[in-house]
Amino acid sequence: MAEIESSGVVPGAAQSTGVESKNTVEDIPTAIGSGQKYPIARVSGPKYDFRAFEPKWRARWEEQKLYQVDLRHAKRPYYNLMMFPYPSAEGLHVGNVYSYVGSDVHGRWMAMQGYDVFEPMGFDAFGIHSENFAIKRGIHPRILTARNIEHFREAQLKRIGNRFDWSHELHTTSPSYYRWTQWIFVQLFKAGLAERKTAPVNWCPKDKTVLADEQVIDGRCERCGSVVERRWLEQWFLKITNYAQRLLDDLDQLDWSERIKVAQRNWIGRSEGLEFSMAIAGMPEERVQVYTTRPDTIFGMTFVALAPHHPLIARITSPAYREAVARYQEAVSNVQVGENRAMTGVFTGIYALHPFTDERVPIWVADFVLGEHGAGAVMGVPAHDETDMAFARAMGLPVRFVVLPAHAPVSPSQEYVQQEAFVRPGILVDSGEYSGMTSEQARTAIIDWFEARGTGKRAVKYRLRDWLISRQRYWGPPIPIIYCPVHGAVPVPEDQLPVVLPDVENWMPIGTGTSPLAAVESFVNTTCPICGRPARRETDVSDNFLDSSWYFLRYPSSDDETQPWNPELTRKWLPVDMCIGGGEHSVLHLMYVRFITLALHDLGYLDFSIPFTRFRANGTITKDGAKISKSRGNVVNPDGYIEHFGADVFRVYLMFMGPYEGGGDFSDRGISGVVRFLNRVWQLVLRHEAVAPEPVGEEKRAMHITIKRVTEDIAALKYNTAIAALMEYLHTLEERRAVTRTELETLLLLLAPLAPYITEELWERLGHQTSIHTASWPTFEATSIQTGVMTMLVQVNGRVRDRIEISSTASEEEIKQQALSAGKAQRFLAGQNVNKIVYVPGRLVNIVTA
Ligand SMILES: [Zn+2]
Ligand SMILES: [Zn+2]
Repeated sequence: MAEIESSGVVPGAAQSTGVESKNTVEDIPTAIGSGQKYPIARVSGPKYDFRAFEPKWRARWEEQKLYQVDLRHAKRPYYNLMMFPYPSAEGLHVGNVYSYVGSDVHGRWMAMQGYDVFEPMGFDAFGIHSENFAIKRGIHPRILTARNIEHFREAQLKRIGNRFDWSHELHTTSPSYYRWTQWIFVQLFKAGLAERKTAPVNWCPKDKTVLADEQVIDGRCERCGSVVERRWLEQWFLKITNYAQRLLDDLDQLDWSERIKVAQRNWIGRSEGLEFSMAIAGMPEERVQVYTTRPDTIFGMTFVALAPHHPLIARITSPAYREAVARYQEAVSNVQVGENRAMTGVFTGIYALHPFTDERVPIWVADFVLGEHGAGAVMGVPAHDETDMAFARAMGLPVRFVVLPAHAPVSPSQEYVQQEAFVRPGILVDSGEYSGMTSEQARTAIIDWFEARGTGKRAVKYRLRDWLISRQRYWGPPIPIIYCPVHGAVPVPEDQLPVVLPDVENWMPIGTGTSPLAAVESFVNTTCPICGRPARRETDVSDNFLDSSWYFLRYPSSDDETQPWNPELTRKWLPVDMCIGGGEHSVLHLMYVRFITLALHDLGYLDFSIPFTRFRANGTITKDGAKISKSRGNVVNPDGYIEHFGADVFRVYLMFMGPYEGGGDFSDRGISGVVRFLNRVWQLVLRHEAVAPEPVGEEKRAMHITIKRVTEDIAALKYNTAIAALMEYLHTLEERRAVTRTELETLLLLLAPLAPYITEELWERLGHQTSIHTASWPTFEATSIQTGVMTMLVQVNGRVRDRIEISSTASEEEIKQQALSAGKAQRFLAGQNVNKIVYVPGRLVNIVTA
C-alpha cells in the first residue's frame, strides 16, 4: 500500500512537510491567514489531525473488505455507478473528484439505509486521449497506460475516500475485456446493425483519424480543437439511426437529468416534413426527390441543391458543365467544415420543374447538403432559411419572400425587401391558391395536394446520423472483421476472439487514412473463416466510446472468462440503479449506452432496455469564477489539497461549494471554513465522551429537525444545504453545556457519507467496535418535530428523576406545578421542603429542597 507509506506522516509533522506540487497549500496562505500554513495547528484542545487516521482507516477498510459486496448473496442490491476515467498522465482532474465524491455520498447514504451498495471502478484506457499522451511523451501507450492506471488507483482514487469495490476493477485495454467489446460488434454485424459504407466523414488533420459527429463541437475536434475536414471514406458505422424513434420515445419515461434529455432530444432532431419529387426539364425519365420541413414555403423555391455525391448528378449534368462539376466533387471531398466556411457550389446546367408553377428551378451541387441528411437533396428557399439565404447570396440566386409576418402589410413579395431570411411561420403571399393561409394551414393543404397526386408524402427525418466507429489509430480494439475476396466482410468467429492488438514498434498515426496496423503484415494476412483462402484483416480499431458503451454490464461479471456477463448476476444487479456523471457526455456516451442497451435487448441478450434507472448530471466547477483550464493556469490539482487538508476536508468542501447538480466555484479561501467545521466536530465529540444518552425537549426536536433536513437534502443531492444544516446543528450543540451521546452519534452518522474518515475515527473513540459505515442511518420521528408538545426533564437537587410531556404554550407556573406533581419526582421529594424551583425554558425544571 504505497499511498500509506508516502503519506503516513506522524501526527504533528504537518508543518514540516515539504510542498511538492504546484497547487498545494503554498498557494493558499490567504486561506489560512496569520502566517500559519495549517489551520489545524491553530486550534487548541483535542487536535484534529487527519494524517493520524486517514491512512489507518484506508488500510483497515481494505483489509476488512468493508466495501466488497457479495454479489451473489446480497439481499438488497443497489448498483451505484460513476463514469470511469481516462487514465491520462495529468492525473485525476478535480472535475472527476467532484463527480466521484458526490456519487459516493449517495452510495454511502444508500448503504447506511441497508442496501448492499456495489460501487465499482475501472479505467477507460483505450482511445485517442491516452494515445495522444503517449505520442507527446514518446512512450508506448501500453507502458504509459499501465503506469497511469497505477497512479490513478493507488495515489488518487484510493485516497478520496470512496467506497470502491476494487475486486471488480475493469480495464478496457485488457484482452479479457475487449474480447467482449469485439463480441458485441460481431453481434451487431450479424444483426445488420454494423455496416461498412462510404460517407462524408469528419477527419481531424491533427489526430489523423475520422471522428463521430458527436465528437465534433462547432466544427472542431473534441479532443484537440483542430478545425475538422470532411472526407469521403469507406468506414464502419453502427446503425444507431434504426433506433432514432425509440431513443426519442424512451426519453419521456427516463428518470434522468432534464438537461441531458433536452440535449438528446435536440441531437436526435426529429422533424416532420414533406418528401416529394419534381420532374426534370427535358428528361421525362428522371425525377429528383426532395425533402423539406417547410412545405408552406414551396412557392419561394429558387434552386434545388444536391449533395456532392448524389447519384443523380452523373446522369443529369449537362455536358458543358460536367468538367466543372467533377472538379467540384473532387475539391469538396476534403474540406474544412468549421463554422465560418464560405458557401460553395456548382451549377449542373439542368433545371427541375416547380410542382405548382412549372417554372424552371436550377439544380446545383452544394456541399452544405449532406449525403445522409434528408434525401441528399433540398429545395432551396433563401427567403425562409438562413443556410439557403447564404447560398443564394454567394451564388447570386434570386430571393423570393412568400411568407410574411402576420403584422406585415399584405403586399406583393417584391416590395417586401429584407436582408435576413424570415424563418418563422406567418401568412402566405404569392403562393397561388394558398395565399392568405397561415403557415400551419398551408402546410397541411400542400402535403395533401402531393399525397392526392402520388408525387409526395408526409415523412419523418432525424438529424441523428449513424455512429462512425472506425478509427485509423493504433490504441483500440481491432475491429473483428476479415475481408475475403470471395465472401467479402466476414466476422471473426467468436471462439477466435479476441483479435489481439499486436504489440508493435510503429504505433504512431500515419495520416494516410489507414491505421498503423495496416503495415503489420503478420497481423493483416490471415485466412477466410469460411473458405480458408488468403484474406486480410480489417486494420482500423473501434471508437473508444464503444468500449465505454457497455462497461456497466461487465463490472458484476468482471471475473467471468466464459461470457460477457453472467445472466443471473445481471438480472440481480442491472439495470444500474443510479449513475452520476458529467453532463458533457450528454450526446456521446449517454446516447451510446442507451443505443447499445436497446440493441442488446432486442437481440435477446438483456431483459431490460434502459441502462440506468436514474441518471443525474453533476454540475461543473470553476476556479475563482473562471473556467478551469490548463491554458489559464488555474488547474486545481486534487492531490495537493488532499495531501495538506485531508480527504474529508476536500470532500466536504467540494460538496459545500454549491448545489451538486449546479456546480460551484472553487476558491482556496473557502476551504478554511470547512477545516474549522471538521475541527469543531472533532473537539465537540472528544469533549463530551461520557454523557447522558437521550436528548429531550427542544434538544430532541432540534436533533430530529436536523435528521429530517439532512436526509431530505442528501436524497435530493443537495449536499451543500445538508452540510449547512449540519453546521447549524453543530453550532447549537456547541452552545450547550451538556450534549448527549445520542446527539453526538447522530451528528457523526449524518456526516459519515460526506466525511467518512473523521466520522469513523470518532465513532471508534466513542467505543464502537464496528464501522460507522455499516451503521443505520438515523430516522426522524415526526412527532418530535411537532411544535405542540415538548418533553421536559424534572430534576430533584440537580439529578434527573423524571420527564414530563407538556404543551409548548404552557406557562412557567403550569410547568412548575406539573413538575412538582410528576410521579417519580415525588418519591424523591417525600418529606422534604421545596426551597426553590429553577426553570430552564425548553429544557428542565430543577426542584431544590431545603
Ligand atoms: Zn483532433
Ligand atoms: Zn472466403
